[in-house]
Amino acid sequence: HAAPLPALDELVDGVRQGHRATLARAITLVESRKAQHRALAGELLQALLPHQAARQAAGIRVGITGVPGVGKSTTIDSLGCHLLAQGHRVAVLAVDPSSTRTGGSILGDKTRMARLSMDERAFIRPSPAAGTLGGVAARTRETLLLCEAAGYDVVLVETVGVGQSETAVSDMTDTFLVLMLPGAGDELQGIKKGIIELADIVAVNKADGANLARARAAASEYRAALHVLGGREPFWSTPVLTYSGLTGEGIEALWAQVLLHRARSEAAGALEARRSAQQVKWMWTLFDDRLRERMRAEPALRAQWPAIERAVAAGTLSPTLGASRIAALLGWPEL
Ligand code: GDP
Repeated sequence: HAAPLPALDELVDGVRQGHRATLARAITLVESRKAQHRALAGELLQALLPHQAARQAAGIRVGITGVPGVGKSTTIDSLGCHLLAQGHRVAVLAVDPSSTRTGGSILGDKTRMARLSMDERAFIRPSPAAGTLGGVAARTRETLLLCEAAGYDVVLVETVGVGQSETAVSDMTDTFLVLMLPGAGDELQGIKKGIIELADIVAVNKADGANLARARAAASEYRAALHVLGGREPFWSTPVLTYSGLTGEGIEALWAQVLLHRARSEAAGALEARRSAQQVKWMWTLFDDRLRERMRAEPALRAQWPAIERAVAAGTLSPTLGASRIAALLGWPEL
């Protein structure tokens, strides 16, 4: 009674021709947890690979993060429309670990990007609604590749600054944009050092009306902080801009910085290096996930690990010994 699987050829052709319905279908396969869907999705990604090199090389992948309310959706709506006007095709994806808990994704929601979602040349896909951060990131990454194969030459991946999600997004994008709120003093306490270190561009939003002076003050504080922290890459010192997602003022300058970062990265050979390193890291992440999944499914382990976990939680078994017991159950007593 399961719906018949689409043919691989149809999927490959449909995606390459930029068919929205086929792309959406392909993404559903990528997001599915059913083994046969996953298998077909794997074949699809592999089949697209040879056709995709040129589109991938030209594609611009931008990660966008910031606390709730900073203006991510307003910014993406505004920036996205600016990019469409320049002839780009724009996909918006999300890595939203909170969707695991709430059962629904707030990010990448079409209603949050009213203007962009009206346009045929834009494709907005919320975060897959279930799974661990690793799982959500895995599917978002594959969706990114599908969108590029379908001709979306700019992919914006947004995330809320929760846990490790910024790292996950930074690991799938070329340029990482950190959005900040205007305000001085206190605001600096809100900077998570790790996030600033990931940033290729810092942008203070809401630089409009009564906020303007505070936005500028915040920008200088961030500049000073960045000066101390130093940059992520030797050829680039992280710029701090102010802009308004609401009025669109400064959006063009923001995009100009993304393009400048890309040009410098390319010239330094860093874009290729970053993507290659991402690919390899990606492979190992997938391997680790699968290995763990597979091992947890081993009957001997399945029967025993809850008890081992309880003992470790209760403090009656040390984590070290617990790990050794698990290894022994898998037949690796020397581990
Ligand atoms: P998100 O949670 O990061 O996606 O933030 P939203 O885009 O939903 O914006 C949160 C609130 O800030 C909304 O009420 C927006 O209208 C407002 N907002 C977003 N950008 C700007 C801006 O540039 N200027 C001003 N004044 N308000 C903004």
